[in-house]
Amino acid sequence: MRRGTNLPRMGGYNQMVVIDEIRRAPDGVSRVELAGLTGLSLQTISNICGRLLTDGVIVEGEKRSEGLGKPRTMLHLEPSAGYALGVHVDPVAMTIIVVDLDGEILEKRVVETPVGAENAIAAIVTTAEDLLDRSGILRSKVLGMGVAVPGPIDMDTGRVVRPPLLVGWDDVPLRDALGEALDMPVLLEKDVSAAMIAEMWQEVRLARGTAIFFYMGFGVAVAFAHGGELLAGSSRNAGEVGHLIVDGDGPLCSCGNRGCIGVSSSPMTFVDEAISRGILPETTVVAIPADVDRALTVLCAAAEGGDERAIDIIETSARRVAHGITILTDLVDADIVAFGGPCWSRLQGRFLPAVREELATRATLREMHPVEILGSTVGEHVGAVGAASLVLDDAFTPRPSGLLAGARRS
Ligand SMILES: [Zn+2]
Repeated sequence: MRRGTNLPRMGGYNQMVVIDEIRRAPDGVSRVELAGLTGLSLQTISNICGRLLTDGVIVEGEKRSEGLGKPRTMLHLEPSAGYALGVHVDPVAMTIIVVDLDGEILEKRVVETPVGAENAIAAIVTTAEDLLDRSGILRSKVLGMGVAVPGPIDMDTGRVVRPPLLVGWDDVPLRDALGEALDMPVLLEKDVSAAMIAEMWQEVRLARGTAIFFYMGFGVAVAFAHGGELLAGSSRNAGEVGHLIVDGDGPLCSCGNRGCIGVSSSPMTFVDEAISRGILPETTVVAIPADVDRALTVLCAAAEGGDERAIDIIETSARRVAHGITILTDLVDADIVAFGGPCWSRLQGRFLPAVREELATRATLREMHPVEILGSTVGEHVGAVGAASLVLDDAFTPRPSGLLAGARRS
């Protein structure tokens, strides 16, 4: 909980504290409750809410009575008071969305990721402009754009530094390039961190516990959070777990070892296995990530259809990943693990039960407390939703000075 202060000169900060509490109460919150939550006087709360109502940032909803007291009016955010763009750049596809203040997706488009950063930037700009035009949203109401990309990222300069899976991305000043082209504030985040942020908004159990998010896209990564705060590391690049060895006899990794968790759960490994076992024809094209992704869809459909070979490929990977998850949950004493990312919805039917089964026999800290294993709550667009929530979080996180430069609605 964030406590306010009754000092008049902190009005801007207090206002943000109030908005933040309203935003975190999906069923609405009354003025009296706000006073209790923030430590601000009822008079201060009434003044702030009056201003926010006049500005159209919040609205009054239903009246609710508790006990004998007079019914209290619930306050909600006005979803159309502001908007954010969210972009997820993945080796296979780029997802661009427009959300309102509630995080509701109003517009969405998925485009195949072009080769090279320049082409990708141009495609993001064109798509974002087009989605805003279609939605009819006033540009002045757009708070900014959040972009989720594979790491590593240089957060100080907003540069994407040679992500291994994005071909033609060599130290790209992505934040400034998009900010200049679109004339709006742009925030960058690692894909797995953005995904974790989105999942925590949707699944309250993740935000309460010591949580791990396992991201399954063209590559894998993990994010850690404790009590709703992401543990992002000194340069916000935490979570590069790809070379954790989970099976000494597993598939050969580019690092020279066998059975790293990344190669054990990568779409390319799934597809190679499917070809060698005759589920996919030897002529299957795997020239670019989108080809591999399409082949993965065929394999997953075969598994869903009951093909034992396909099921075995997915379950073997799940058991290897479960070994890694055991190490990670024991390492940070996690009590909840969520899986998600672009590949997840196709894999989960066979993957999730196998992970749960394997973990039940492994995690040592299960003696101390249960470890809950969940599938994604947000779904396959989690990267883009997380990217958009970066903007909303940044705009509404109370801090004594400064919000998103140039997009502040005081
Ligand atoms: Zn490796």
